[in-house]
Amino acid sequence: MKIVFASTNRGKLREAAEIFNGFEIVPISAFPTWTAPEETGSTFLQNAVLKAEAAAKAAPDSIVLADDSGLVVPALNGAPGIFSARFSAEGTDAANRKKLLDGLAGVVDRSAYFLCTAVLIFPDKTVIAAEGRCFGRIIEAGRGENGFGYDPIFVPDNYEKTLAELSEEEKNAISHRGRAFRKLIGTAGLLGISR
Ligand code: IMP
Repeated sequence: MKIVFASTNRGKLREAAEIFNGFEIVPISAFPTWTAPEETGSTFLQNAVLKAEAAAKAAPDSIVLADDSGLVVPALNGAPGIFSARFSAEGTDAANRKKLLDGLAGVVDRSAYFLCTAVLIFPDKTVIAAEGRCFGRIIEAGRGENGFGYDPIFVPDNYEKTLAELSEEEKNAISHRGRAFRKLIGTAGLLGISR
């Protein structure tokens, strides 16, 4: 079964292909009429639905998948949250991580969690959504080469390694995206959609 993923983020595309193992994950960039929507929502769910709807418009005959995800730091009142990708002025992963580490300088509570809201839209317009979280803490300096975004500075609960030091398989087993996508796969199975 083919699933069109509404993302151009290479890290996310790799993870989706591994988690939706047995499905064919096709990037939305393969559909020439697609344009990325503005993420004007005020929640992860609203932004995930905006992305999924834009993809469904460009690929109406396909099952489309979208996710909106980010890092939530309670000591920073939930920042960067839905603004995780555009937290710093530059908007690069490195600049975003630096801004976060600067913001947490001297802060004792370094607990944080990743959140992913994922949405599937079917050609008959059925919509299903699921959420996944991954709890952990922000360390003082980055470690590891794998993954993307805030992975090098995030250590999951019960782990010593950062997400960027884990293999993709290890990350997907515990990550917010892995949890949300697996819930979607389970629900899709209930609807009779299988690999
Ligand atoms: P989105 O593409 O609009 O959902 O923004 C996601 C942003 O949140 C990414 O650009 C990263 O900054 C951050 N993020 C989401 N998931 C992860 C992850 O698994 N690891 C590290 N950073 C993540």
